[in-house]
Amino acid sequence: LQAVEAVEPRIAGAIRDELHDQRESLKLIASENYASPATLLAMGNWLSDKYAEGVSGHRFYAGCKNIDTVEDVAAEHAKALFGAQHAYVQPHSGIDANLVAYWSILAAKVQSPALEKLGAKSIKDLSEADWEQLRSELGNQRLLGMSLDAGGHLTHGFRPNISGKMFYQHNYGTDPTTQLLDYDAVAAQAREFKPLIIVAGYSAYPRRINFAKMREIADEVGATLMVDMAHFAGLVAGKVFTGDEDPVANAQIVTTTTHKSLRGPRGGMVLCDETFKDYVDQGCPMVLGGPLGHMMAAKAVCFAEARQPAFQEYAQQVCDNAQALADGLLKRGAKLVTGGTDNHIVLMDVTSYGITGAQAEGALLESGVVTNKNSVPNDPNGAWWTSGVRLGTPALTSRGLGTAEMDQVAELIDTVLKHTKAGVTKTGAQAKGKFELASGVADDVSAKASGL
Ligand code: PLP
Repeated sequence: LQAVEAVEPRIAGAIRDELHDQRESLKLIASENYASPATLLAMGNWLSDKYAEGVSGHRFYAGCKNIDTVEDVAAEHAKALFGAQHAYVQPHSGIDANLVAYWSILAAKVQSPALEKLGAKSIKDLSEADWEQLRSELGNQRLLGMSLDAGGHLTHGFRPNISGKMFYQHNYGTDPTTQLLDYDAVAAQAREFKPLIIVAGYSAYPRRINFAKMREIADEVGATLMVDMAHFAGLVAGKVFTGDEDPVANAQIVTTTTHKSLRGPRGGMVLCDETFKDYVDQGCPMVLGGPLGHMMAAKAVCFAEARQPAFQEYAQQVCDNAQALADGLLKRGAKLVTGGTDNHIVLMDVTSYGITGAQAEGALLESGVVTNKNSVPNDPNGAWWTSGVRLGTPALTSRGLGTAEMDQVAELIDTVLKHTKAGVTKTGAQAKGKFELASGVADDVSAKASGL
């Protein structure tokens, strides 16, 4: 850090402060973790300086043998870890992985058949008129994904994201009573909407998904099943999600981030079967810039770590801890979406405390408990203020906390929320983002949180 300090002390300061914050507070953001020192070191080095457009063995630049090694080793570990036929480790993030997957499906299922019909080898051979026709077909496809307030992700076809501009989108929600995924309802929607792609996966759904059932639905309507396992990749790698719950065994194409429950560097990856292999490998330059050699190196280290038996214990502990956290909150009277959890996420509906998700998030942060506000199904407070708070156990489990400590964490959260009141503006109107926390609570809870 001294080298950074000498050039720009504010950056050195921010790095130090981040380490301090991450050590002192309780990191309950479900998508965050603590990467190992080996992973962190693998991403801060000279591999960053090399351009290597293309894919291993087929580069547009000279001198890429070390990047080839890195990419090959990362892919080898990824395939072994997840039992995948093919791994593409270049995507810089989860969004990028999803873009590569979407365009690969479009290329395999829309573009290739169109070229075949026209007797053309490549899009370069098409006349202007045929190219226009193909472009309109590519832009006329349908995608069915989970709704945002049921726990889906913006990249699953929602308008603010490029995926919502590329596809006509419909979404499936959850059962209004149980808040659980209703496979019969998804099947009925799929039959009516006839999507090219069904996306399964979530950012805030606190339950497991039966991917075998989702594949049956996709097969029945001729759709490709894509699973975005960004959130729960660590639970797949750690063999907690197996059989019908294993996305790689059941979907044709799987995308992920590497930095959430998988505990690696920030980044993405696509796993697929042979059908999509050649398309996925064109991710750069189709939608990606030059691959980040240092990040692929860090992914390789993370995958190698996740292949150790200790990672399976970790993954199981993540779920046990989420269960203990949910139990601890339920016994103190809290309301949880779906009534509990069987993955790494606990989604609290904080309206029972008389506050919004934004107010709860603010009060918890002031008390050293870092969470994020989150919509609940059919959220009356909308996607900004929300009625929920999302909690996740991957990071605290990496720090070695177990089920006994989860009960203490539940106690801290419940204490803060019970002492938080909705705030008002100067004119006395209700302010959904303002809160009042009873005096002394933040200091008391922060001290306890940093001691855990
Ligand atoms: N997919 C899912 C399910 C996610 O939860 C996220 C991030 O939160 C992403 C994709 C996007 O990942 P990234 O932030 O790396 O682009």
